[in-house]
Amino acid sequence: MTDGSTNIKPEVIKSHLLTYFKSLKNYPDKYLHRFFVDTANPPEHFAYLCPLCLMNGIIVEQTIGLGMHADFSLDHYPPESIGGFQKILVCKKCNNDAGTFYDFSLKEKIQQLAFNNSTPEASLNSKFIATNLTGRYPSKLTIDKDGKIEISLKPNPDIHAPFLDKFIEYSKDNHDYKIELTQKNPDEKKVSKALVKTAYLTCFDMWGYEFVFSNTGEMVRKFLNDECEYPVLNPSFWLGSIAKTEGIRLPLGLCYLKEPAEWRSFIINICLQDKETGFSEVASVLVPGPSKEDWENLSNIQTLLNEMPITSMSIAHVTENLITDNIFDGYTKDWKLLTDNN
Ligand SMILES: [Zn+2]
Repeated sequence: MTDGSTNIKPEVIKSHLLTYFKSLKNYPDKYLHRFFVDTANPPEHFAYLCPLCLMNGIIVEQTIGLGMHADFSLDHYPPESIGGFQKILVCKKCNNDAGTFYDFSLKEKIQQLAFNNSTPEASLNSKFIATNLTGRYPSKLTIDKDGKIEISLKPNPDIHAPFLDKFIEYSKDNHDYKIELTQKNPDEKKVSKALVKTAYLTCFDMWGYEFVFSNTGEMVRKFLNDECEYPVLNPSFWLGSIAKTEGIRLPLGLCYLKEPAEWRSFIINICLQDKETGFSEVASVLVPGPSKEDWENLSNIQTLLNEMPITSMSIAHVTENLITDNIFDGYTKDWKLLTDNN
C-alpha cells in the first residue's frame, strides 16, 4: 500500500469514493480483506476497488488518510481515440493492459467502416507487392471526394527505397505489371472485448458494485480475461442503419430491449467516431440481467437476432424509463422490476 501519492486530482478520488462506496460497503466480505487485517472491526473508512481487477484499491481512513495499492488513472470508455469522453478510475495496470491488448482495435474497426462506406478522406493502411519489384511495401488507400479509391504506393515520401522509386517511375509509362494489395482486418475478438469492456464500465457507473459482484459482472470479467466466451457469438452488432434511418431515434448508453419480449436484455449502445473523417457508427452490446439464468438465456437471444429484422425491436433508455419513478437503485431490483411489470 502506498501513501497515495498520485497524479489524480483529489476531487476525482473523492467523487469516486463517495459515489461507489455506497454499493461497495454492502459487500464487506468482497473487499475488507484487501485493506484490513482485522476485518471484523475495521475503522471508519471509504473505499474503492478497481472495477476491472477488483485487486487494487483506494482507501481513505480517518487515522492514516489516503492509501492506494497501486497508481490509478482515468480510463476513457469507449477509448478517447474514437471519441469517448466518459471517464472512470481504474488501476494503471488494467488501463494499460486493455490499451495494449484490445482497446486499439476499435480505432482500426471504425477506420475500416468509414472506408467501406466510401467516406471521403477515409484511409486504410495496406501493403503491396508488384511484378518485378523486390519486396513488400507499405501503401495507403484513400477515398477521394468523389468516393473513389486512390492508392498511394509511397505514403511516406521520406523513406529510402530505391527499387520502389524505380518501379513508380516505370509504372507511369507502362502497364504490363500487376499490383497485389493486402490489408489487415481488425481482430473481431479484440473489437468485441473493447466493446464489452465499455459496456461493463457503463454498467458499473450506473449500478456500482451490485453489477460488478453479480453473476453477469463476474462472467463479463472472465470473458475479458479469456476465461470464457461471451454467450452471444458476437456481442456487438452495428446499428448504424437504424441510427441513420429518418424518424428513428436510437438512444445511446444504457438501454434495455423492451420488444420483442424474448429479447429482453440490457443493451449498451456505444457511439464510435472516426475523428479523421467524422464518420460515426453505433455498436451495441447485450448485457443480460444479473443471474446465471439470464446469462445463459443470452444465447437464445443470439438465435433470435439472426432470424429477426433489427427494425422490429424497441429500445428504451434505462434512465428515462426508471429514474423518473425514483426506483433506480440497484441492478437486481431494476431487473426484477423490468421483468415483473412487463
Ligand atoms: Zn485493475
